[in-house]
Amino acid sequence: MDNSSANDLLAKQHYLIPITPRPELCFMRGEGHYLFDQHDKRYLDWIQGWAVNTLGHSPEVIQQALIKQSGQLINPSPAFYNQPMLTLAELLCEHSVLDEVFFTNSGAEANEGAIKLARKWGQKHKNGAFKIITFDHSFHGRTLATMSATGKDAFAPLFEPKVSGFTKVAYNDLSATEAAIDDQTVAIMLELIQGEAGVIPADAEFVAGLDALCKQHNLLLIVDEVQTGIGRTGSLFAYQQYQAEPHIMTLGKGLGGGVPIAAMMIDKAVSCFEYGDQGGTFNGNPLMCAVSGAVLHEVLAEGFLAQVDRVSEYFCQQLEVLADRFALGANRGKGLLLAMNTGEISAPQIVALARDAGLLLNAPREDSLRFMPALTLTEKEVDDGIAILTDVLTALTAAPKE
Ligand SMILES: *Cc1c(COP(=O)(O)O)cnc(C)c1O
Repeated sequence: MDNSSANDLLAKQHYLIPITPRPELCFMRGEGHYLFDQHDKRYLDWIQGWAVNTLGHSPEVIQQALIKQSGQLINPSPAFYNQPMLTLAELLCEHSVLDEVFFTNSGAEANEGAIKLARKWGQKHKNGAFKIITFDHSFHGRTLATMSATGKDAFAPLFEPKVSGFTKVAYNDLSATEAAIDDQTVAIMLELIQGEAGVIPADAEFVAGLDALCKQHNLLLIVDEVQTGIGRTGSLFAYQQYQAEPHIMTLGKGLGGGVPIAAMMIDKAVSCFEYGDQGGTFNGNPLMCAVSGAVLHEVLAEGFLAQVDRVSEYFCQQLEVLADRFALGANRGKGLLLAMNTGEISAPQIVALARDAGLLLNAPREDSLRFMPALTLTEKEVDDGIAILTDVLTALTAAPKE
């Protein structure tokens, strides 16, 4: 696109409600690990739709699933069964400890469903208990209830009054969690790796302890795997790497490989919605379910998840080399949900310079970079990205201090 048409395009931005600062770029196409802007400049993408594009940009299997399903059936209404919805539900249940699925259009909507189900269960089976324990710095979404559940400081003063009934506790603090349980508590809800907080993993003993507390006090364990699910951490679900038997699990982001689909999955022992309690116009539509089924088929293929682990290990090694060279902090996370502490260097500044140099990164905190590449990542892209990061860090650390 020439400069004047690119400028014409970006001049339309005032038609959008501003919700976040965006760079003066307009992405025109994507191909695997790469995005191309309005000038056809290429970027290695380690944001991937925000940990969404499991197989990278516009993979052939998604194109084919969309073409096939859109020619067959797009939406018969949520009042009827459809084939992709049924086969996807079976696939998810057969590969997890959970038994039933409700499909949604976003992670927040899945979590909203989890909150509703826990409250319904408390009404029916626990004397009207309704309080849910959630954790400091957690992120569960942007609907009113999920913002209320979220432990992000910046959300605290917003959109008052919040939905009541959420007790916030320090993450990885088992005794504080136990102390927060009372007669009205119905569930504990957590991310096994806090993604938006900067990739903070839950300790193994903490999760095993929460699982035990839930059993002891007859509480529901809700794992928000919107970011960690579908292979992101090297196993299909992150709970599989912990000693935990969740009653409710929510999925989103990677489930659709780029298209909007999310899910709430539950243990049939806690299934208690009555007709009319839950629903939604687009929920479980065959178009999105067909895409998700195609994505899952790839992720479940022999060797796929083992390769995620291998490339993760290589990625971590390269990050350590970088840390040694530029006196940065340690890396953290699992699989291909990784972060690195940038110490004294401003992470948002690294992000801006890396973008100019053709690498898309996210800084969840002033002092942290987050890496969420496609799960099809190979050593080659790791090397390419690390080379760009090395240049950026070299420039930043060489710059004279003001
Ligand atoms: C992204 C995210 C959500 C919200 O999902 P949306 O699809 O943006 O509504 C909820 N929980 C976690 C852990 C997330 O990372």
